[in-house]
Amino acid sequence: MKQYEPHVVEEKRQAIWEQEGLFRVREGVDKKKYYLLEMFPYPSGKIHMGHVRNYSIGDVIARYKAMRGYNVLHPMGWDAFGMPAENAAIERGVHPAKWTYDNIDYMRKQLKRLGFSYDWSREIATCDVDYYRWEQWMFLKMYERGLVYRKSAPVNYCVKCQTVLANEQVVDGLCWRCNEPVIQKELTQWFFAITKYADELYEFCDRLPGWPERVLNMQKNWIGKSYGVEVDFRLENGDRLTIFTTRPDTLYGVTFMALAPEHPLALDLAKGTGYEMEVRAFVEKTRMQDRSFRAELQGNKEGVFTGRYAINPLNGARIPIYIGNFVLMEYGTGAIMSVPAHDQRDFEFAKVYGLPIIITIMPEMEELDPQKMECAYEGDGILVNSDDFNGMNNRKAISSIIDYIEAKGIGRRTVNFKLRDWGISRQRYWGAPIPIIYCDNCGIVTVPYEQLPVALPLNVEVKMIGRSPLADYEDFYKIRCPLCNGDARRETDTMDTFVESSWYFLKFTCPEYNEGPLDTKRVNYWMPVDQYIGGVEHAVLHLLYSRFFNRVLNEFGLVDVREPFENLLTQGMVIKDGAKMSKSKGNIVDPDYLIEKYGADATRLCCLFAAPPEKDLDWSDKGIEGCYRFLQRVWRLVVERLDVIKDLNPTVIPKTNSSDSRFLALMIHKTIKKVTEDIERFHLNTAIAGVMELVNAIYKFLEKPRDAKEEFSLLRGAIEAVLRLLFPFVPHITEELCEMLGADMAAFRGNWIEYREEYTIEDKVTIAVQVNGKLRDTFEIERDAQQETIKEAALGRDKVQRHIEGRPVKKVVVVPNKLVNIVC
Ligand SMILES: [Zn+2]
Ligand SMILES: [Zn+2]
Repeated sequence: MKQYEPHVVEEKRQAIWEQEGLFRVREGVDKKKYYLLEMFPYPSGKIHMGHVRNYSIGDVIARYKAMRGYNVLHPMGWDAFGMPAENAAIERGVHPAKWTYDNIDYMRKQLKRLGFSYDWSREIATCDVDYYRWEQWMFLKMYERGLVYRKSAPVNYCVKCQTVLANEQVVDGLCWRCNEPVIQKELTQWFFAITKYADELYEFCDRLPGWPERVLNMQKNWIGKSYGVEVDFRLENGDRLTIFTTRPDTLYGVTFMALAPEHPLALDLAKGTGYEMEVRAFVEKTRMQDRSFRAELQGNKEGVFTGRYAINPLNGARIPIYIGNFVLMEYGTGAIMSVPAHDQRDFEFAKVYGLPIIITIMPEMEELDPQKMECAYEGDGILVNSDDFNGMNNRKAISSIIDYIEAKGIGRRTVNFKLRDWGISRQRYWGAPIPIIYCDNCGIVTVPYEQLPVALPLNVEVKMIGRSPLADYEDFYKIRCPLCNGDARRETDTMDTFVESSWYFLKFTCPEYNEGPLDTKRVNYWMPVDQYIGGVEHAVLHLLYSRFFNRVLNEFGLVDVREPFENLLTQGMVIKDGAKMSKSKGNIVDPDYLIEKYGADATRLCCLFAAPPEKDLDWSDKGIEGCYRFLQRVWRLVVERLDVIKDLNPTVIPKTNSSDSRFLALMIHKTIKKVTEDIERFHLNTAIAGVMELVNAIYKFLEKPRDAKEEFSLLRGAIEAVLRLLFPFVPHITEELCEMLGADMAAFRGNWIEYREEYTIEDKVTIAVQVNGKLRDTFEIERDAQQETIKEAALGRDKVQRHIEGRPVKKVVVVPNKLVNIVC
């Protein structure tokens, strides 16, 4: 094979890998373990460039770590339940199971064609009953421990998708999947008590040094821990209304209170005040609005007066009570104190409804006038209008005021979280059934463990009817109660698909184990995941749920570690012409086309070379052309001089003293060092650039005719270095060339190439040149260069020649490493 034919090479290597079972990995090997995981794909039909990039990055690390002597677990599977399968079923009349498994078959072929080093013997699909049966087991255990409960609650609901959405799945008031506005609906749901872990999930963010700062901040913001105080405001009728605030230093400036429309007192308060009708209308209107949208309201703050007043416990002021659309029941107590002078949101509301503004914090450099303020003053200053606290710095006053409140018994210090419990009920078919039975006599009954799994029936017709088709399928829902044997009905909602992806990383460690949820010994050998790689779009949802789930399973004794992912890399998107690839923009690049035209190696290389992993990659066709040409150049480098280097022993130590040899050796060692360090830091693009330079250096070395055997050995050493350094990036072509060279294949795949520090230093000295005793020039040359070489170099310099002025040179004295003196 003289020409580089990627398909021939790639098919051949992949067949060999498969035959040798090269990527199969087992536990209990006398090597350090390394668990590398890329976020598994949803089997939507075809892999896209984002996948290719994600998995190419992972494959470099997996192969590199294996070459460094690690026992590397690198698995792949399918996040296979979910809505698109169901939508496809409705649109095309194909069963979700068939659609899903067909897609998996196709996408598996695509991934295999790309030559990723997955241990395919560990493949899992979360829609397999042997997978989700253990999820049902976990659900029951969580139920026993009070980590699952059922309640009726207003939930986010997407009318288009006809299902409930978790708070995390509502983006700016829109459904994360279809972008339709989300509404509120009262539904009885199952919830996971993730809030029990809110504090730990928050605090542990500071113990994850291997995670990007940005992701940790997103998690922290989502959990939203804040320190503050609950204060009891008495109503005129003697009732109490408790508010939560992080700003007790502004308590003397409260001029109204606002309740969430969902607050239990909202309607009661207005009774008999003459405002009842208005309040009721407002509450009904507002409750339909999505809450995350309400929380971020810009302008458009609306409210209605209840006709009631509360008494400020600090100064006895009479405060009107409003219902406000910007107050959330889930945060704090669902009631807030409003301080228009020092909170912009309250300020805007007060302006609309003509409520008073009382200054309690005076900035040091200016005098605030409530009549002239155009916005709230949210900065620090000195307390005024605050009785005994006047004159104090407001930050310092916070704890003094809380002490006072606690001493008077009108409030207490508290910590508050924004995080809500995770509603997991979905009124959809293509998901894991919730293992619960409803009995008229016994109420809620759990499915007995020995009756697991509750298998999803596959002979169900999927239609768009606004509820799970299971709810109409008698064979499924009609059941005898396990306790009283009376008529009972199964839960027909299925679990949120994010439940499956919250523990798949554990299942990969023991995929075929079926005697229990997990083979703890193997789980503990592999966990935690040493390196997790995936898109930043999962920074909140998936990662937070996984951290929660891993903690729960830790408490069940199924895994020793508390945090599942030691290091996290979030790779950027693949974009084209400055925009995210999408069908509607028509800027999609199809991986199949690239593999067809350039081969898997060039496709991988381009994804890795065009941008650093964490940055967005702007796809260009020139980029892949360039990568393809580079691979051809590497191919020719070996194939065109196979006869001279084939049976030589490679060396990377210069055996001759020629400066060319020394330079090539320097390049080899410098490049190995650079590539090693770059891969360790995920600077994969610069690692590739480094090898490209080495290839250039080799071609330069070949420009002069070579005859010494030592030089060919060095040439072969250089070429082997190129192949081994490139192996994690482009495994097919490098392995093929290595085989042509007759190199030891086990050593090639199994050992990383080491450099020697002393050869990475450019060893040069500065030589001074004198003409007739006067210093005229200096230049650099390799240390210990031959006298003749130094003399030639000195005489060849323009500056020196100018000072010789054409006169005959009488004598040249060379002091090695120091000086050349020319007498003329
Ligand atoms: Zn939707
Ligand atoms: Zn019963």
